[in-house]
Amino acid sequence: MPGARPLVIVGASYAGAQLAASARELGFEAPIVMVGDELHAPYQRPPLSKGLLTGKTTADKLALRGADFYAQNGIEMRLGRRATFIDTVDRSVTLDDGSVLPWGWLALATGARCRPLPVPGADLQGVLNLRTLDDAQRVVAACDRARNVVVIGGGFIGLEVASALRQRGADVTVIESQPRLLARSFPPQMSEYLEAAHRARGVTVACGRGVRALHGTDGAVDRVELDDGSNVPCDLVVLGIGVVPNSELAQAAGIACDNGILTDAMGRTSAPGVLAIGDVANMALATPAGGPARMRLESIQAANEGARAAAAVLVGREQPFSAVPWFWSDQYELKFQMAGLALPGDRAVLRGDMATDRFSVFFLRDDLLVAAHSVNRPAEHMLARKLIAAGVRPDAHMLADPLFDLKSLALPVSNP
Ligand code: FAD
Repeated sequence: MPGARPLVIVGASYAGAQLAASARELGFEAPIVMVGDELHAPYQRPPLSKGLLTGKTTADKLALRGADFYAQNGIEMRLGRRATFIDTVDRSVTLDDGSVLPWGWLALATGARCRPLPVPGADLQGVLNLRTLDDAQRVVAACDRARNVVVIGGGFIGLEVASALRQRGADVTVIESQPRLLARSFPPQMSEYLEAAHRARGVTVACGRGVRALHGTDGAVDRVELDDGSNVPCDLVVLGIGVVPNSELAQAAGIACDNGILTDAMGRTSAPGVLAIGDVANMALATPAGGPARMRLESIQAANEGARAAAAVLVGREQPFSAVPWFWSDQYELKFQMAGLALPGDRAVLRGDMATDRFSVFFLRDDLLVAAHSVNRPAEHMLARKLIAAGVRPDAHMLADPLFDLKSLALPVSNP
């Protein structure tokens, strides 16, 4: 479309790459410029805390799209460049080299960054974050030398790091400030199962313990001081204490933000012509009664589905994000798959035997199936996603009965 102002996408990762791809699939013809402050073309992040750390995969296998994809689809890449200013009146974005890009549509796909650890010693050598490929390569290099690793934060990423580094033979201690692992997303029985799984494989888990300071010798970390005064010796610390959204650029431009950039279910922000997608977007959700009205979903699926919804906006269609959220985590030989959003107070129903490392926990809210967490049950998980989307109200005893065929719940009820 000659003369059309471009779609400028800030952030070259999952959400940005999917938006560009979906826009072209839907026939969006204006130029597309993708700006990313990392030097790498969009790459997969999940292996950074899994296969890349265990050595099962390598950095050259992580590209999200083939090398020719962007050029072939008329997507101009500006990598190693940071967007520093948005003008929503003149419709332009300024980059850190002083260049100014006009836009017809602007998409903010700036993701999130690691939350800093606010204690003395957090800047010592050997204290590492894990968000980017460069971060992961620093962790890989450090763990070649490290014997004693402390992982601060018992969330998914911290636990995946613990699992990977343990498999590499390191002694690993996980420090979690909450009384149990994954307290916000897992029910107590899943947290107990997870903790036992890590302990059984030789990881030390300390829940309900804060970090008071990190100490070192010659500038390099050598112990973590806990809030009970005890010390954990270490030669590597990996932080996994969550992320903060990269929403400052939007905020400075006057775009409504609150724990991320506020959007509707199609990625539209408070500023006309400006979309926000992926980890940075605090998106309106169509969840069952009692569920959150909006949320920043930090997952590949949300980045991709949110990008598809936003691409529809670009071509004048309305296709709100309505998918059941799902997420996965690989730890040791355990594949965790989560679908839907469970809340405290939902009734948890166990199907299977935790001792076999193959089971699901289903969550009922007023009899409505709202979420399911599975371990090494991929087929059951896929079915659970469908059942959640279908809004079924299963009998709890049937759910718990391993002989009951869950597929029958997906069948339409025939009229007498
Ligand atoms: P990001 O991937 O964060 O990308 C945003 C990009 O924008 C970054 O490159 C950033 O540097 C860039 N940027 C920011 N500001 C600017 C600016 N001003 N100018 C230019 N560029 C800018 N999800 C799952 O579903 N399953 C998993 O197993 C899983 N494992 C994970 C493991 C790790 C180690 C990590 C870090 C994440 C994992 N996730 C997983 C989460 C998933 O990777 C994120 O949800 C996803 O990357 C979000 O994509 P995004 O495009 O919104 O943002």
